[in-house]
Amino acid sequence: SLKCGIVGLPNVGKSTLFNALTRAGIEAANYPFCTIEPNVGIVEVPDPRLDALSKIVNPQKVQPAIVEFVDIAGLVAGASKGEGLGNQFLANIRETDAIVNVVRCFDDDNVVHVAGKVDPVADIETIVTELALADLATVEKAIQRDGKKAKSGDKEAMRLVALLEKVRAHLDQGLPARSLGLDEDDVALLKPICLLTIKPAMYVANVADDGFENNPYLDHLKALGDKEGAPVVALCAAIESEIVELDDADKAEFLSEMGLEEPGLNRLIRAGYKLLGLQTYFTAGVKEVRAWTIHVGDTAPQAAGVIHTDFERGFIRAQTIAFDDFVACGGEAKAKEAGKMRSEGKEYVVKDGDVMNFLFNV
Ligand code: GDP
Repeated sequence: SLKCGIVGLPNVGKSTLFNALTRAGIEAANYPFCTIEPNVGIVEVPDPRLDALSKIVNPQKVQPAIVEFVDIAGLVAGASKGEGLGNQFLANIRETDAIVNVVRCFDDDNVVHVAGKVDPVADIETIVTELALADLATVEKAIQRDGKKAKSGDKEAMRLVALLEKVRAHLDQGLPARSLGLDEDDVALLKPICLLTIKPAMYVANVADDGFENNPYLDHLKALGDKEGAPVVALCAAIESEIVELDDADKAEFLSEMGLEEPGLNRLIRAGYKLLGLQTYFTAGVKEVRAWTIHVGDTAPQAAGVIHTDFERGFIRAQTIAFDDFVACGGEAKAKEAGKMRSEGKEYVVKDGDVMNFLFNV
């Protein structure tokens, strides 16, 4: 399954945040198919649509989607040269599918900043530089390996080397490969070399409890995020670690006192899920209302395959009701009466929130 790697310089609140995520996370016992390692947090994706469906269907069970976060320690300046836990850090981050950069946006004289002062944009530069340097080394090796083939006239190799040279020039300026605006074909060509800076990335601004507004650090980070098209989630890790310890009643009271609608973790989890290119469709039966995870762009048979490979192999068609129609009509039967149930074939690209039934041959 796809995972978000959580990275950041030391002392930015990464562990505090990750601990909150694991405390909010699922119990391994409920998910026997997952082996949960200490640096992995598996969390349910908060989705109010599940409540709306449950009100209508009254199921015995509700099953949200889940998403994985991995705590990746050891990012320091020099990591790309093996400083600190450098090599382990790079190996761990290579295994993730998206990068969540935690950045310090709070002042606290009691918490040392590794670079001497709080400066989120400079911190991000440090991180990107390390990752770009690691990618440069990877790209150099690939150019050497494929260069000989390219010289001997191998068309594939020539195309790859030309692309690698373009990427190298970009990385040389300290820029991440993702900002090169590569098309799908180029991205596919680069896939085997596992670049770090091509992975989608987002920022978590760890702010003080009163730091959601009038916070220049946060403003700078948001400006950077806008420029890069990278999502920015602001939260206070210290508050999040308190919230996860509360029971539901106390939680609601605490959130309303803080003027928050929901825990910041919820926003982080949803943003991570989206960053991974994931989306949800639903099945809504009396036994179970369930959110299923698919990739944006998946077809109906691929979506069916998430439930069971037989569903994909024997796929005939899908009966589909858009979430809004399902709720507005008050359930499947009435949606069908109102002509809101569509019959979709193999080519259908599933939309986020579709409520689906699959017909298949066994
Ligand atoms: P890491 O090195 O990035 O994993 O950072 P930690 O989570 O260990 O936090 C480093 C220090 O910052 C600890 O003393 C935390 O208590 C403190 N810290 C973490 N989050 C916050 C926060 O939101 N506000 C304040 N004031 N301190 C925090």
